[in-house]
Amino acid sequence: MRMYDIISKKRDGSELSREELQYFIDGVVSGDVPDYETTALLMAIYLRGMTDAECAVLTELMAHSGDMVDLSAFAGKSADKHSTGGVGDKTTLIVAPIVASLGLKVAKMSGRGLGHTGGTVDKLESIPGYRTSMSSEEFLAQVRDIGIAVVGQSGNLAPADKKLYALRDVTATVSSIPLIASSIMSKKLAAGAENIVLDVKVGSGAFMKELDDAKALAKAMVDIGSSCGRNVSALITSMEAPLGYAVGNSLEVIEAISVLRGETRGPLREVSLALAAEMVSLAENIPSDEAYVRVENSLDSGAAFEKFREWISYQGGDVSYVDNTALFPEAKFAHDVNSSTNGYVSAIDAEKIGRASMILGAGRVKKDDIIDLSAGIVLSASVGDKVLRGRWLCTLYTNDPAKLPEAQRLVLEAFSFSEEAPDIHGFVRDIVK
Ligand code: URA
Repeated sequence: MRMYDIISKKRDGSELSREELQYFIDGVVSGDVPDYETTALLMAIYLRGMTDAECAVLTELMAHSGDMVDLSAFAGKSADKHSTGGVGDKTTLIVAPIVASLGLKVAKMSGRGLGHTGGTVDKLESIPGYRTSMSSEEFLAQVRDIGIAVVGQSGNLAPADKKLYALRDVTATVSSIPLIASSIMSKKLAAGAENIVLDVKVGSGAFMKELDDAKALAKAMVDIGSSCGRNVSALITSMEAPLGYAVGNSLEVIEAISVLRGETRGPLREVSLALAAEMVSLAENIPSDEAYVRVENSLDSGAAFEKFREWISYQGGDVSYVDNTALFPEAKFAHDVNSSTNGYVSAIDAEKIGRASMILGAGRVKKDDIIDLSAGIVLSASVGDKVLRGRWLCTLYTNDPAKLPEAQRLVLEAFSFSEEAPDIHGFVRDIVK
């Protein structure tokens, strides 16, 4: 077999066989296929697409290119969620303890933030003592004992994806539905959960700007998961504005705790309950509305909050911070940004808010940048609010005051205003099963 023939076959629009895809993935991982051939094939896939069957085979081969976590001991109750990336998205901190309080087993490997989007592992590290790495034996024992463990990515999960993603990033081949779907699903399959709920973001702050594209990506991922024997469904949720009011690591943990304590309602609670309900519906094989009643009850009764405390303390975190969020160190500088116009807030560009938060110190430009866990933004206005000139829109938190002017400029650009009240729709836009 030769890569030249595989590339020309895809260039001409034909379907690649399992053997051809296997040859490609094996060669990517071993290094026998050089980067110029890999990127030529990626561009051919980008331009020609893939059939559903072809994409499912590619994903399965990428998943099996490294370690496969075995969660079969949890007898169908293992559950995972994945978000395609957003700003202010702290749903894992809420969803995981809700579903664990209902008997599901959450063995989750989460990522770090890069660029304008945050990562769950960074958020959890803002709780002193919380351990984001442990041996796989300890990880599985914790899931068995308390139903939940969340750590950083470790081991050798889907190494083929790691290589392909790095090349896609620099060759303008990221935004292809079969390539995104196979990339995300290969990691989810390797991570082992039998029940997987995907949170596909749509809107200005997301990969997918249009609802139809988000639905197509969701369907591709659900189909791949089903053809590989997993229960998968996808929610399409809005990223037209940041999710919730806090952006930045410890600020987001504080907001998540206030939702778990029942003190904050609104979109973050709405999306978290919908995701948790879908996970319970898949794992227990019950209708979504019945699952919704269970998850709402877990949140409202305090069971989810108790599970959160148990999880944080079991994983080494100082639970006094959970009980008293005033203990989280505040950034030295807190700067209010006020409106320079009258009108209704019609949109808050999530990507710009994410970039401003990164500039303040909360995010990384490069993979090994050190982040400031107390930096970020707290929004005090939401889409639909009527504001007058001088009204407080948000507060910027940083330990480096030199960053404030650029962050303020971006934040002011992020807010759009209209004379008429904008249409407000729910954050959960659709569900794909
Ligand atoms: N996230 C991934 O893991 N892969 C992609 O291709 C896009 C987003």
